[in-house]
Amino acid sequence: MENIIVIGGGLMGSSVAWKLAEQGAKVTLLEKQGQNFDHGSSYGASRISRSLGPKKDVFSYVHNRTVKEVKKLLTFLNKKGKKQAHKMEDIYSTSPVSYLYTRDQYDQIDKLRYKKQKNDYRRGSGDSAFRKFGVTLKPDQVLVREFREHSGTLDPHELIQKLRLAIGLKGGKIVFNQKVTKLVKKEDYFEIEVSNTESSKTKTIQAKKVVVAAGPYTVEVLKDFAPYFNRIITPKRVLVSYFKIAKKRYEKLSEKELKHIIAAQPMFSQIGKEYFSMIEKWDEDGRPIFKAGGHKIRHNIVDLDNAWHLIPRKKELKWIKKEFRKYFESLEIHLMKKDIERVDYCNCLYSMTRTEVPLVTHIYNQYGSVDKNIVVIGGMSGVGAKGCLGYGTIGANLILGNPEEPSKIYRRVAKAFGNYGVRLYTRKPRRGRLF
Ligand SMILES: Cc1cc2nc3c(=O)[nH]c(=O)nc-3n(C[C@H](O)[C@H](O)[C@H](O)COP(=O)(O)OP(=O)(O)OC[C@H]3O[C@@H](n4cnc5c(N)ncnc54)[C@H](O)[C@@H]3O)c2cc1C
Repeated sequence: MENIIVIGGGLMGSSVAWKLAEQGAKVTLLEKQGQNFDHGSSYGASRISRSLGPKKDVFSYVHNRTVKEVKKLLTFLNKKGKKQAHKMEDIYSTSPVSYLYTRDQYDQIDKLRYKKQKNDYRRGSGDSAFRKFGVTLKPDQVLVREFREHSGTLDPHELIQKLRLAIGLKGGKIVFNQKVTKLVKKEDYFEIEVSNTESSKTKTIQAKKVVVAAGPYTVEVLKDFAPYFNRIITPKRVLVSYFKIAKKRYEKLSEKELKHIIAAQPMFSQIGKEYFSMIEKWDEDGRPIFKAGGHKIRHNIVDLDNAWHLIPRKKELKWIKKEFRKYFESLEIHLMKKDIERVDYCNCLYSMTRTEVPLVTHIYNQYGSVDKNIVVIGGMSGVGAKGCLGYGTIGANLILGNPEEPSKIYRRVAKAFGNYGVRLYTRKPRRGRLF
C-alpha cells in the first residue's frame, strides 16, 4: 500500500510531489514518459512569468508564492550539494513584460488591475508609448510594461529537473514509464492500474491518497473515478512557432536595436487572437530564438496521443509569422519575409476549464460525494506555469489535510481554485470575478 501517489510529473505533479516530500510525506510520483520530458503542457524552456494585478489578485499571489518557493527549493538543493550550484537565474530571466490592450479593454478591465500597484509598471499610448518604450501603437491601443524582479520568463524544463532532484533527496520516489490506465476507489483506498510503457507489463497498486496532475490527460485518468470530469475540463491544442532573425539581417542590427528587441520580450496582447511572444533560448551563434503563438486559436482534440504530431494548417503558421513581423514593425525594426526564419513549430496541449480558472481541489466521486483523499490539479490552460509551486502548495496541504495557512490571501486563493472546482459540478460558475 502506497501512501500518496501523484499521477503526472509535469510542472504541477512535480511541484505537488516536492511540497509533499518537503513536509515528510511518503510520496511516489508516476510518470508515463521516460526521464526525458519530451511532450506535455510544460514542454519547452520558456513561459511568461508576471504578477501585475490588484492587491488580492489570485494569479499574482500564486506567481509570488512560486518565486518564494523556488528560493526555498534552491536553498535546500544548495545545502545538500557541495557547491552553491543552483541559482534563481537558472529558472527566471528577469525582463520587462509588455501587455497590449485596446483602449476599451484597458478602460473596462485593467484599470482595476493597476489601481493599487506600486510604481513598478509604466503605461503608454500614442506618442507617449513611443517616448517611453519606443513602440508605435495604433491610436486605440495601450501598452503596459511591468518591471519586477523575476517577472519576465521562467524555464519549466529547468524547474522540473530541480524539483525531481529535490523530491529524490527528500526520500520521495519517481517512477518513469508508468502510465496509469485505471483509477478506481475500493472501500478506503485507491486501486491504480499501471502499464509499463517500455515492457507493456501491467500491474495494480494500491494507495491511500492520490493527486491527479496529468495535464491534458486528466479527464482520461479520471474516466472511471469521476467520469463527469469531461464536462469540467477540456483538452485543447495551441500551435506555437519558433523564429530566428536571418543571420545577414541580424548582423545588421545595431546594439541599440538589439537591446530594444530584447526589452520588448516577453509580450502578450489581449487584442484579437491574443498573440504572445518571448525569447525561448539563444542558439549557438548567439542569436535569440523566439517563441510565438496565439492563445485564442485553440483547437479541440479528437485523439490526444496523435494531437502532438499533427501537421498544422499553413494559414495558422502564416498568421503567427505575420504577427511576429507586425510586432517588430511596431518596434520600428523592419523585417522582410526572408529575414524571418522559422526554426520549428510545436503543437502544445493543455487542459482548460470553462472560465479558464484553474482547479486545485478535492473532487466528487461518481456517486456525488466529495472524496478528501483525492486532489486534482488541472485546467491550467495558458496560465499555470508561473504559479506552479503556489498550486502545488495548496494541493499538498489539501491532500495532507493540513489546516489552512492563516493568511487571508491564502484562504482566498485556495477557495478560488478549490471550492470553485466543487461548485463547477453543482452550480453555474460566476464569470469575471477573478483576474
Ligand atoms: C502554448 C502554451 C503557452 C503557455 N504559456 C504560458 C505562460 O506564458 N505562462 C504561464 O504561466 N503558463 C503558460 N502556459 C501554461 C503552462 O505551461 C501549463 O499550465 C503547465 O505547464 C501545466 O502543467 P501540468 O503539469 O498540469 O501538465 P503537463 O506538463 O502536461 O504534465 C502532465 C504530466 O502527466 C503525465 N501523464 C499524463 N497522463 C498520464 C498517465 N495516464 N499516467 C502517468 N502520467 C501521465 C504527462 O506525461 C505529463 O508529464 C502555457 C501553455 C501552453 C500550452
